[in-house]
Amino acid sequence: MLGPPGAGKGTQAERVARERGVPHVSTGNMFREAVQAGTALGKAAKAVMESGGLVSDDIVIGIVRERLARPDAATGFVLDGFPRTVAQAEALDESLDDAEPLVVVDIEVPAEAIVKRLDARRVCGACGAIAAPGGTVCVKCGGPLVLRKDDEAEVVRERLRVYDRDTLPLVEFYRRRATYRAVDGDQPPDGVARDIAAAIASVLGVQQ
Ligand code: AMP
Repeated sequence: MLGPPGAGKGTQAERVARERGVPHVSTGNMFREAVQAGTALGKAAKAVMESGGLVSDDIVIGIVRERLARPDAATGFVLDGFPRTVAQAEALDESLDDAEPLVVVDIEVPAEAIVKRLDARRVCGACGAIAAPGGTVCVKCGGPLVLRKDDEAEVVRERLRVYDRDTLPLVEFYRRRATYRAVDGDQPPDGVARDIAAAIASVLGVQQ
């Protein structure tokens, strides 16, 4: 699942994963959990994340390889927030079985809409879940809602710069593939979900 920060990748990836009965693999969530748990990985990632930069390719590729080798990922998975650089995409290609297509869904949202969305977005301060707009407490665990540190305006601007510099080339990397689909992410979440389901069905064809 490709798209700029705040495109709705997390929400949509979670939904596709639930519907298809495969794990949702979010590198951002993995790093946030590691930061909370205070592991060595968390310590390495914390400052980079808070500045809006990217964790190094070696570290990210290592944790994703480990995650995809777990048995629950044997029949498929939804990747969210990975790959984010061409080097990560090349590493992913190397570790994939050619028999299964890599469906690339690119959620397109204009930059002005992103800045507005991230400014309004709240996450649970206890479990990290993204809150529905207008909520007051987390629907998953009842925790308080907070602005994610990297959703602060200045960090968002840096994340968008990093996206343009490091992640947009990925769109070019994938765009030529028959399994690439762009969907309009600048519409309500149910509409995006419908377009994503149709995009995946059109790639997988008769396997649906
Ligand atoms: P996300 O929740 O996907 O926006 O990720 C939050 C932060 O985690 C990013 O701004 C990066 O600092 C880091 N991160 C997540 N995924 C990656 C990745 N594939 N490569 C490098 N850094 C990542």
